[in-house]
Amino acid sequence: MPELPEVEITRKTLQKYIENEYILDIKINNRNLRYKIDKNFRKNLKGKKIVKISRRSKYLIFHLSDGNFFLIHLGMSGRILVDQSKNKDLVLDTSFYPSAPPLVKHNHVFFYFKKSNVIYNDTRRFGFIKFYKAKEFINSSHLKNLGVEPLSKNFTTTFVKKKIFQFNKPIKNILMDQTFICGLGNIYVNEVLFLSKIHPLRNSKSLNNLEIKQLVFFIKKILVKSISLGGSTIKDFHNSEGKSGFFQDTFKVYAKEGSACSKKNCRGIIKKIVLSSRASFFCDRCQKE
Ligand SMILES: [Zn+2]
Repeated sequence: MPELPEVEITRKTLQKYIENEYILDIKINNRNLRYKIDKNFRKNLKGKKIVKISRRSKYLIFHLSDGNFFLIHLGMSGRILVDQSKNKDLVLDTSFYPSAPPLVKHNHVFFYFKKSNVIYNDTRRFGFIKFYKAKEFINSSHLKNLGVEPLSKNFTTTFVKKKIFQFNKPIKNILMDQTFICGLGNIYVNEVLFLSKIHPLRNSKSLNNLEIKQLVFFIKKILVKSISLGGSTIKDFHNSEGKSGFFQDTFKVYAKEGSACSKKNCRGIIKKIVLSSRASFFCDRCQKE
């Protein structure tokens, strides 16, 4: 599942190719994504310029020249491909074109621009694309209740401390709660708890100052690092230019059940438990319960 770093990388890639470009046309092969694409979608977007591409949590937000917006969420297996074959100055990277039939048949929406085409491809169709009128956007049910952005200035030790003492739950569940902190998925939460030496089942109220400080530090660090490495490609994700990310090579606990702990002087073994129906991986020695 694409997580925050992957979505941010997609945003940066799209920014490079289609920001300030006009949408010449749109072709929809399959409207049936998680939500059905509105029948006026093409009409609403055609001829408009994309003036800005931003991100909130795992949502890509496209700001249109007429003040309206559209959102893309990649769901479980959504990916955005940039096809530059029209531009003679740029060498066509064939990986922009997944040539295997199972991939081509999952090309659901095509956005045509002057120099490139952008394709929304989604095998499992849990992702979605939605149009919003300028006035409706602020009330989007997807964006309204989102928590703090982990890479923002507001995400500080003081903020987290105040918040997590209000809960009486395992810390892992709180970090997965999108109304508290947005965009941190299962992979990153597992990794962050490992780096911070905190057991996923620890009650949030039992965390001391140093542990909270570590948590905030490692959340920011791991996201920044992952974005710089090009995003992880676990399961269905490739970054928008079709290159693979490298972050999954640096996972310390995620899907490492049975491996030795990678921390110096720790003789622990990585264990797996299921918490709120999500797999949790942790070292049985250095992550304190
Ligand atoms: Zn360990």
